[in-house]
Amino acid sequence: MTQKIMMPPSDSFVLPDAVAEALAAGRLPHATLLVGPSRATMTAARYLAKALLCEDTTCPCGRCSACIRFQAGTQTDFFEVGGESIKTADIEAMQRWLSVRGHSGKKVYTLYGADQMTGVAANRILKTLEEPQPGVYALLTAATRQSVLSTIRSRCTVYPIAEPGVSAHTDVQVIPLLEDAMKETENHSFDGFINKMIKWVQMWLVDGTPALILAAQWQLICEEVSAADSLTLLVEYLRDILHTRVGQSSIRFQDWESHMKRVAPILEVRQWSRAIEIVLDSRQRLESHVATLLNFEQMCIRLREVLPDV
Ligand SMILES: [Zn+2]
Repeated sequence: MTQKIMMPPSDSFVLPDAVAEALAAGRLPHATLLVGPSRATMTAARYLAKALLCEDTTCPCGRCSACIRFQAGTQTDFFEVGGESIKTADIEAMQRWLSVRGHSGKKVYTLYGADQMTGVAANRILKTLEEPQPGVYALLTAATRQSVLSTIRSRCTVYPIAEPGVSAHTDVQVIPLLEDAMKETENHSFDGFINKMIKWVQMWLVDGTPALILAAQWQLICEEVSAADSLTLLVEYLRDILHTRVGQSSIRFQDWESHMKRVAPILEVRQWSRAIEIVLDSRQRLESHVATLLNFEQMCIRLREVLPDV
């Protein structure tokens, strides 16, 4: 079914051509991540939600009963989550709403500020994102692509949203290697993985566990997620510790902040940077034919060398 698209007001946000085309063809992905300034991305998410639920052939028409309910704030097939921060209770309320039969056969929900989600909330939403139901659309917004947890991002189609007269936001802090890693991130849940990763970081930094045992331990942890995902998450975690070390607050691993505050002072900033480089290097080497355990062993030996002699 092809529809005509009523373009958004020119002073609100710039609708990317790819999104307009997908919308017109009735092929908007089940999970869309809109990145850019918060006002523009929120307006864009509301526009897309209204268009998806519109009953007219030119959408969003603003005149049909679905559009009128939407404008009045009484559209029950639309559910908004987020704004300030996204908590586990918000996700659970949305999931209860999803389980109730809808009015139109379509349901659209938002997650404004998907980069402000607590770790537990992010974990809770994963299942919903990875097992999409027909007619259900998720519209996520975030400041940048990079600021969203990789496991969430890998389940979404990402579009940059710009304010009128401003070119689309580009991530300035993108680490190219990590970007490559993201593209290949596989769809695995990371239930329980993070807690094991935290214990492992403790073994490395506090317990003085020998490198080869650390490597074997990491291979065990990887049974739940792929080796590539595990190293991508480790990089993100170490980067958050580095941010904590320089006094910034952590966004992605908020729920584990107390652990990060405890371990952050153990290494100097340059040592944390070095550790991140080592893991990225090992992540890239997964592409070559080095055996996984050997790769982990090399990584752990180098990580051991980062630590000051005790
Ligand atoms: Zn309408």
